[in-house]
Amino acid sequence: MASVSYPYPKHAPVSQTLFDRASVVTPGGVNSPVRAFRAVGGTPRFMVSGTGPYLTDADGREYVDLVCSWGPMILGHAHPEVIGAVQEAVARGTSFGTPGEGEVALAEEIVARIEPVEQVRLVSSGTEATMSAIRLARGFTGRAKVIKFAGCYHGHVDALLAAAGSGVATFGLPDTPGVTGASAADTIVLPYNDLEAVHEAFHAFPGEIACVITEASPGNMGVVPPLPGFNQGLKDACAKNGALFISDEVMTGFRTSKAGWFGVDGVKPDLMTFGKVMGGGFPAAAFGGRADVMAYLAPAGPVYQAGTLSGNPVATAAGLAQLRLLDDAAYEKVDAVAAEIGSMVSEALAKEGVAHRLQTASNMFSVFFTGREVRNYDDAKAQEAFRFNAFFHSMLSQGVYLPPSAFESWFVSTAHDAAALERIAAALPAAARAAAGATEEGAK
Ligand code: PLP
Repeated sequence: MASVSYPYPKHAPVSQTLFDRASVVTPGGVNSPVRAFRAVGGTPRFMVSGTGPYLTDADGREYVDLVCSWGPMILGHAHPEVIGAVQEAVARGTSFGTPGEGEVALAEEIVARIEPVEQVRLVSSGTEATMSAIRLARGFTGRAKVIKFAGCYHGHVDALLAAAGSGVATFGLPDTPGVTGASAADTIVLPYNDLEAVHEAFHAFPGEIACVITEASPGNMGVVPPLPGFNQGLKDACAKNGALFISDEVMTGFRTSKAGWFGVDGVKPDLMTFGKVMGGGFPAAAFGGRADVMAYLAPAGPVYQAGTLSGNPVATAAGLAQLRLLDDAAYEKVDAVAAEIGSMVSEALAKEGVAHRLQTASNMFSVFFTGREVRNYDDAKAQEAFRFNAFFHSMLSQGVYLPPSAFESWFVSTAHDAAALERIAAALPAAARAAAGATEEGAK
């Protein structure tokens, strides 16, 4: 770790220059909205490299990374074995447009880890995975309607953008222009953790609901785990009404345990979606589940789904290398790091009298600036997000990179060692004071 002095100046000249250039040729200067720092204010940091738990930006400033590329980098950045596997794969060629052994091996690894997945199809992004799973559920059941939950994000699939979390929550977008009434008409949005609402919807639309899709344990409105019995209740309601239960594990898959959130709560979905960790930092994602349902996919069945780069040899090599390193000891380490950081943050905020709530789902966690338990999207939106913004900037200036939004999970890795944790501990008192002193007016 380079020797550095804090706080970093507010102005980041090289990032600013890059952002100015980017803003000319790319809408908002970024290729994914939350990266732009609009929710927290300021200039997004352009990163040039990552090693272990650290990122280095274009101004040469180093940060402990608590975003981990929004989840994928569970072994830290540039893990030598993952990089080695990538280099070997790249040297053999980068895309063939034919089947290859790497994709078989990755599919086998997924099927071996996650019992409800009897067959799996590889795609390139989580968005593609959920979009395809919904199409398959509709094709399999011959029904149109989809139940989703407010605050859950399933990628930017038209039909699933209604009341979505992540960037949609961050920017408080009521609806997204460009999503037609027709594509959203069959989406039923219900409050999260409310089984009664689910039963009512099945009652109101008998024989019309193709599937219920939920984040296995939501991280896109901040971390809001399912109440005991919620996922099982969804599964039972689907089974009773001839609908499919889709568990979106794009974020939790291979992160919250070896078998993702399924490994935590054991509720068996009909279909599941994956992304992030399984790609080792490359664009790889998947959906899978019951073999009789997956048999409806082309070319075995009539539901069309395809991708030029699906099962890409470099992405599958990275994903496979990462998954093979993720043994029990790795998850124990990530869980312990997350627990320690969470309690350090909570202690620092409590010391300054800042009302907050640390919520966890295995090693995913986030801090809500509210005194109340957060069980759904309305609860999440009721927090004092302006306190997060002050907290965020104080941490940033002291070399700790948090998600630039109060509505996101924080992510850690096996590479977060004692030195990284010390850096966080050193930054917390000032950040907690900044949160305590923040005002809504000051955030504007
Ligand atoms: N589903 C969940 C639960 C997610 O968290 C995300 C992305 O954050 C997606 C789907 C979409 O994945 P991608 O960004 O790879 O399209």
